[in-house]
Amino acid sequence: MRKPFIAGNWKMNTDGHSGPELVRAIGKGLAQVDMSKVDVAVIPPFVYLTQIITAAKASRIAVGAQDIFYEQKGAFTGEISANMIKDVGCNYCLCGHSERRHVIGEGDELINKKVHAAINGGLLPILCIGELLEEREANRTDQVIERQVKKGFANLSMEKARAVTLAYEPVWAIGTGRTATPQQAQEVHAMIRGLVAELYDKSLADDMRIQYGGSVKPDNAKELMEKEDIDGLLVGGASLKADDFLAIIKASIAA
Ligand code: PEP
Repeated sequence: MRKPFIAGNWKMNTDGHSGPELVRAIGKGLAQVDMSKVDVAVIPPFVYLTQIITAAKASRIAVGAQDIFYEQKGAFTGEISANMIKDVGCNYCLCGHSERRHVIGEGDELINKKVHAAINGGLLPILCIGELLEEREANRTDQVIERQVKKGFANLSMEKARAVTLAYEPVWAIGTGRTATPQQAQEVHAMIRGLVAELYDKSLADDMRIQYGGSVKPDNAKELMEKEDIDGLLVGGASLKADDFLAIIKASIAA
């Protein structure tokens, strides 16, 4: 049984007041939730990580970073290492979020280096993958996902691969209000699990959590989570409202 994992990606939102307030409201709402049934993380902007970790202390909310650089230290102006993220108390980091792939221009090789660096630095990477609308319309979804999975896991030992959570986020569904149907998502998730089994083995593939992301809302979370190969949700916009994020978490447990 894979334990549901719900993560809220705050992107470049919140500030020094609203962020702690948001995480405290989520923590308060989770006091009534059986946390043995779900893992929850929030992923705020770098500059607020310490504040959010402090504000989340009394709860069981884990905190992650939205990105890392692949070197440990040195002359890399503006970059943040996995060791630094671990040092402030984070457990997770996103690698290859679609906005980093398609707005910033990160490619598979760079993202693979970040996955290695995250694990070597003691973090649990959430490796994001997903096809563009034109790739889906050209029936190239499987091909794109296969490339992103193979390159994302390149040179990663079986033991290290166990640290990874995958997040399937079709780019056309992110921030657009257009969610993949549960069936569309399930098809890709099952394909991804098959790929992981080919790269490693069935036992690792069966244990690996694969989140879905893309316009997840309280009213579609349950039907997505009911699908066999959807093990969690990576939530953007709806994670900025405590009530919506809590409703998504509760719906996921109920699924
Ligand atoms: C995301 O940021 O990963 C995401 C899925 O955003 P949204 O839920 O807003 O589509």
